[in-house]
Amino acid sequence: EKYLTRRVLSMQESQTMRISNLAGKMKAEGKDVVSLSAGEPDFPTPDHVNQAGIDAIKSGFTRYTANSGISELKKAIIEKFRRDNGLEFQENQIIVSNGGKQTLANTFLALCEEGDEVIVPAPFWVSFPEMVRLAGGTPVIVHTTIESEYKITPLQLEQAITPKTKIVVLNSPSNPTGAVYNEAEVRALMQVLEGREIFVLSDEMYDMIVYGGIRPFSPARIPAMKDWVIVSNGVSKTYAMTGWRIGYLAGPKWLIDACDKIQSQTTSNPNAIAQKAAVAALIGDQRIVEERRLEFEKRRDYMYAALNSIPGFRTALPQGAFYIFPDISGVLGQTFNGVVMQDSADVAEYLLKEHFVATVPGDAFGAPNNLRLSYAASIASLEEAVNRIRRAFK
Ligand code: PLP
Repeated sequence: EKYLTRRVLSMQESQTMRISNLAGKMKAEGKDVVSLSAGEPDFPTPDHVNQAGIDAIKSGFTRYTANSGISELKKAIIEKFRRDNGLEFQENQIIVSNGGKQTLANTFLALCEEGDEVIVPAPFWVSFPEMVRLAGGTPVIVHTTIESEYKITPLQLEQAITPKTKIVVLNSPSNPTGAVYNEAEVRALMQVLEGREIFVLSDEMYDMIVYGGIRPFSPARIPAMKDWVIVSNGVSKTYAMTGWRIGYLAGPKWLIDACDKIQSQTTSNPNAIAQKAAVAALIGDQRIVEERRLEFEKRRDYMYAALNSIPGFRTALPQGAFYIFPDISGVLGQTFNGVVMQDSADVAEYLLKEHFVATVPGDAFGAPNNLRLSYAASIASLEEAVNRIRRAFK
């Protein structure tokens, strides 16, 4: 271990591992665990997408492709941005990578180094601060609360900026809170950044999973920020393609070229077969996206009402993604079945060990008073989970 680099030692170990390892072990032992810890849709990859992958294999499309992705897929991505987000890009402004994760990692590696600060609003998706550290930068965490629906305000953003600020991360809809910034909120935040040579990394992975008639609004829509906004997205969540590993990044050509260079010397092109499947997903029949969105919305409505009726739980209404992130301060410090709930990790462990419900403690997301529950599960499983949680805190 003494041979390890400062780079890897400065990274935090995944705090979610303890719970997910335990849940896996319990399931293997045949215990009836209801798992609300998944970060992926419970739906299958659509048939026509699978078929495109099969066709790719059968036609021998199984070799290296252009490092930054095939032109056919870049065209499909450009069409998606135009159709869903009102954004215009050229092919040389797009790179396809091995999942949304790699697009983000490439960007941090290309843009930050020792001394650079990256503003990350909390609660955050677990990988943002660790990716920044891996690249040598310093994450600057800005905490938000349930009162602002877990959204950063323009004043908070202004106060977090220093001469060292290089990037601001925005993730709307958010994993883990489900918060979505509306157009006015995005405009107000961008106004703070205008003319300041600060990049916005906009992670729009859940842009098509939004509720209550909200339309996603990308900061890249704002002309004054055109050269400063980098958009990351992928097919993982919208098309239930988490295992195919296709993400994409859109931004200034010079940055895309830099990501291309990093990728060419580390992983090379993303999987050829998956690229063909992603084309089918992005420009094929989109009805399934809406059908699934409606199903997620029903589950969201159920979970919001059900969790808020549990004493000690307080939940903001998620407006996107498929997570709900109750504040559980009300049960912290209390004792249930002889177990003291000191923090959210204790709560998650208690729920799993004694009541067989797997959740993710909020610590991992920079919010120690919260619990993340995924509603990428059937209504029947959600009802069972809620009943167990209610019993656990009687
Ligand atoms: N960004 C956010 C906010 C996510 O929640 C995830 C997946 O959990 C990703 C990016 C990464 O997605 P992918 O599986 O395409 O790497």
